[in-house]
Amino acid sequence: MSPSEKLRADELFLASEARPLLLLWYDKNRRDLPWRRSRDPYRVWVSEIMLQQTTVKTVLGYYDRFLGRFPTVIDLARADLSLVLKLWEGLGYYQRARNLHWAAGIVAGNPGPLRWPQSVEEWQSLPGIGRSTAGAIFSLSTDRWAPILDANVRRVTGRLFGLPDVLPGREARLWAASNSWGPGNPRPGDTNQALMELGAILCKPSAPSCDQCPLASLCRTRSAESKAPEALPGSLPKPRAGKNSVPLRKRVALVPASGLLHFEPRGEGRLLEGLLEVAGFPSPGLSPGERVGEGAYGGWQVVEELFAVRHVYSHFREEVRVFLVSPPPGAPGAKDLERVCDGDGAGVRASLSEADRLALTGVSRKIVERLKKEFSGKGTILSGGSHPMS
Ligand code: SF4
Repeated sequence: MSPSEKLRADELFLASEARPLLLLWYDKNRRDLPWRRSRDPYRVWVSEIMLQQTTVKTVLGYYDRFLGRFPTVIDLARADLSLVLKLWEGLGYYQRARNLHWAAGIVAGNPGPLRWPQSVEEWQSLPGIGRSTAGAIFSLSTDRWAPILDANVRRVTGRLFGLPDVLPGREARLWAASNSWGPGNPRPGDTNQALMELGAILCKPSAPSCDQCPLASLCRTRSAESKAPEALPGSLPKPRAGKNSVPLRKRVALVPASGLLHFEPRGEGRLLEGLLEVAGFPSPGLSPGERVGEGAYGGWQVVEELFAVRHVYSHFREEVRVFLVSPPPGAPGAKDLERVCDGDGAGVRASLSEADRLALTGVSRKIVERLKKEFSGKGTILSGGSHPMS
């Protein structure tokens, strides 16, 4: 704690008054979420990482499946990164999964019996764990006190303690205010859970339900300002990136008539690193009859455009036009290509059903699903192909 995060007597008093009201409300209104049923540090850790920038509703579809496949930190550490990414597919922000896997290797790799980090600082030393996440994992798994400041707690704290958005040294003041829940707290972990829950259910960004809030009588922001929610701390509308201000990347993806698709890994340092994508390259489009000049299908001929798909990632949009290609006489056929691709580590070949087991980028998953929908059961994308679509 830095000197600027010094606890203030008035905030300690406010927190001590508010705490019983908050916990009473939490006991009656808490949602039954799977990660609240255990204090196991591994389960808490996985939930906190999944919940970063992702809604509870979305995480619910992933959490049990992930833990079913990797029930312990040792299972996760031993797993292939590609499998971890596969189970993360659709959750987005894949760096979280890579860091989780990396950090699991560090924890499980310590010599001797498994030893979990013993302090907020030790948790924070692991890849992908910042101060607030470290505080949450420590506090929820040990039921000991540590302040947290995720988006929900930041908003509740800013409002309850009356810290306007524009305030010199606000960050340190927020940490100090959050920390004022700690002294003499009989239920530290539940207090942090309750603050997060209050932010998620009642103290929402643009329309807080102050009338139902257990802290309304103590809240320094309620009153006149609650009639104009946009004036509440934490309510300033984030500048929404307009659709056109998010970069649009255009690619082509190539599909042979056999339906045996070639998938290439996205390289080191690129966004979505480690995921596979349907072979292709950056280009606005191709024309029927054109020869493909590069990549796995170099020398093949474009037959026709099949369809186009679009996908929005966190930092860019991608538009991919999908083209059917065929080998011209003398060029490597499907079997030769299969050997080339399998042998040099430049990618994998898989049928549409086999692709279910691969960790694909969002846009490539859409391509596979569209191909399945339109061509499964029809034998081949072009009649007369040599491999059945499956
Ligand atoms: S009274 Fe309103 S603004 Fe204050 S903490 Fe409760 S919901 Fe948030």
